[in-house]
Amino acid sequence: MRALGAALLLLLSVLHLALCAEDYYKVLGLKRDANDREIKSAYRQLSKKFHPDKNPGDATAKDKFVEVSEAYEALSDPKTRKIYDQYGHDGLKQHQQQGGGGGHHDPFDIFSRFFGGSGHFGQPSERRGPNLEMRVQIALRDFYNGQTVEFHWDKQEICEHCDGTGAEDKVVDTCGKCGGRGIVIQKHMIAPGMYQQIQTHCDQCGGRGKSIKHTCHVCQGQRVIRQQTPVSVTIQRGIAKDARIVYENEADASPDYVAGDLIVTLNEKEPTPEDNPGHVDGANFRRRGDDLFWKEVISLREAWMGDWTRNLTHLDGHVVELKRERGQVIQPGHVETVVGEGMPIWHEDGDSVYHKTEFGNLYVEYAVVLPDQMESGMEKEFWAVWQKWRGKIGVDLHKDSGRPERPTDLWKDRHHEEL
Ligand SMILES: [Zn+2]
Ligand SMILES: [Zn+2]
Repeated sequence: MRALGAALLLLLSVLHLALCAEDYYKVLGLKRDANDREIKSAYRQLSKKFHPDKNPGDATAKDKFVEVSEAYEALSDPKTRKIYDQYGHDGLKQHQQQGGGGGHHDPFDIFSRFFGGSGHFGQPSERRGPNLEMRVQIALRDFYNGQTVEFHWDKQEICEHCDGTGAEDKVVDTCGKCGGRGIVIQKHMIAPGMYQQIQTHCDQCGGRGKSIKHTCHVCQGQRVIRQQTPVSVTIQRGIAKDARIVYENEADASPDYVAGDLIVTLNEKEPTPEDNPGHVDGANFRRRGDDLFWKEVISLREAWMGDWTRNLTHLDGHVVELKRERGQVIQPGHVETVVGEGMPIWHEDGDSVYHKTEFGNLYVEYAVVLPDQMESGMEKEFWAVWQKWRGKIGVDLHKDSGRPERPTDLWKDRHHEEL
């Protein structure tokens, strides 16, 4: 009867496990072919999100935190990942029970291996590493279209080989010379019966109070290594050109402190040909807030007589048509407002079912170029036209300007200005 009861209990617990254990890939939000980097990155984000210190009193978050650690632990080791892929949770459990390693570590240990410190946040005793500020250059078209860019930086990480102990076998002993205090006190006799005490750093352990027998060959006992680490930055459409994006606890890591924040500040890049593969005019737009500015050069004939069209290619390749009918004059320096052709106006929902992106304006300033030289025939014809009309429809620029009359003869002669 007792045996039956035990068997039933076992069956129940197996059932319970089978029901509860969520797929590890699902837990981390990954596809089954995710690579190492993606597994790490998922762990980084989710472990911070569900960390119990950030969700006080929230039992669900705590369960999630444990789940995420388990999933990461199983998938980050190629051996256990293979077993999991083939035999699932049960296979992995069997492997662990048979002493195959990869058993459950304390989720806080796993966390501290990533972010340093004790695996906890916000404790007054916890030291915090420095924040790291970085600038990334982003092309205007990426601000307009939205983009995810990746860059690498030389990040200090906790050595994975020795788990940040500095020891090949991960065994750390208390320093025999200083007894773990990191300092030694030397006594000097300065006169008979009189001693001076001098405190110095323990040279045996370098002041750390710990000693290791076998130095880790990867970090040379430094406990940390520097390596090129990717950071992916999502540029949301229309985000401010000097926006700051904070990556919590992503600055240099160390076993001695909780990693500070990595702060990425965006910067608009001067346009280069590489940033403009489509040769769009938009790459040379100037941005001010949500608006864009462009200078369009037109000829004297176009400014004066009208009858022209220009196709401006915008930052995403769509065409903005500028045009004038015959007889529509444009004064030099005139600024035309093209409503809705500026930058996308940033919104937290982006372009989604909840929100339709609105746009600022495009301001086109016209610059009129006068011909330096004319063919002599053309010059003569124009001259003749001017001579014919200048007397008939004179425009008095002086009168129009509203300036007071000046008594000089010189000025008087200049009344009746040109057309
Ligand atoms: Zn020592
Ligand atoms: Zn190491």
